[in-house]
Amino acid sequence: MNQSEVKIAWFGKHFGEEPPLTGHQAQGAGTIFFSHCHLHCVFCQNFQISQQGQGRFYQTEQLAKIMLDLQDSDAVNIDLVSPTLWWQPLKQAIISAKRRGLTVPIVWNSNAYESLDLLREFTGLIDIYLPDFKYGDANVGLKYSGIKNYPETALGAIGEMFKQVGYLQVDRGGLATKGLIVRHLVLPNNLENSFKALECLAGFKKNIHISLMNQYTPLYRAAEFAEINRSLSAKEYEQVVDYFYELGLVNGWVQAEMNGPDLVPDFKKKQPFAK
Ligand code: SF4
Repeated sequence: MNQSEVKIAWFGKHFGEEPPLTGHQAQGAGTIFFSHCHLHCVFCQNFQISQQGQGRFYQTEQLAKIMLDLQDSDAVNIDLVSPTLWWQPLKQAIISAKRRGLTVPIVWNSNAYESLDLLREFTGLIDIYLPDFKYGDANVGLKYSGIKNYPETALGAIGEMFKQVGYLQVDRGGLATKGLIVRHLVLPNNLENSFKALECLAGFKKNIHISLMNQYTPLYRAAEFAEINRSLSAKEYEQVVDYFYELGLVNGWVQAEMNGPDLVPDFKKKQPFAK
């Protein structure tokens, strides 16, 4: 891998992230989707980018310019999706863009399967960490992503992220300025995995912000695994949301509609399902 270039599949304003990362319609997250991924999840929702490597190469300085252009177009942050493999040129690009006037928060949007050493390279450079905590059950991680020790590794990474940025902070306009948001995508027929994931997060910090995602669609190689070869049901999602409350977790977002893009902005006040 050439350390002065990165491969990018898409960049632009994106409106599907959590409300404090998106802002209003004229704003949006300044999202940069990097090509390839160090995991190979059989259900990957972006497999054309992560597994088939869709994208084109950009030099470090071109990437810095993309960040600055996104800021100029009123993006509320720079949202780096699947950044891990490209961390070296990316770090240089962030440093360069900051020297050239980048001030919006930088978001590290990853799968959390990352080493502490790598994350420590970004101390003081990343403002918001947005890890997807995929598996609470190591066997499920092994089955669908072919990796060992996912929960242990990801929790270590999340601990380092929290150490760097702490709890989520928002400004007066409701935009995130700093902190940690942990995502979790609920898989069909795998509720125990989600329950364990929430138990791990509750055991870590009860007040962290968690975004529970329901938009799973059977894509890529999902048809090879009968149990995940369908969408998530409303009942399954409801059970996971209920367990969130049972564990005493309080902050975050749920999706207002099944497979819908809208996120309910206030987890504490709005229950997603009638009891
Ligand atoms: S970690 Fe995310 S982007 Fe990477 S293969 Fe898995 S689902 Fe796809």
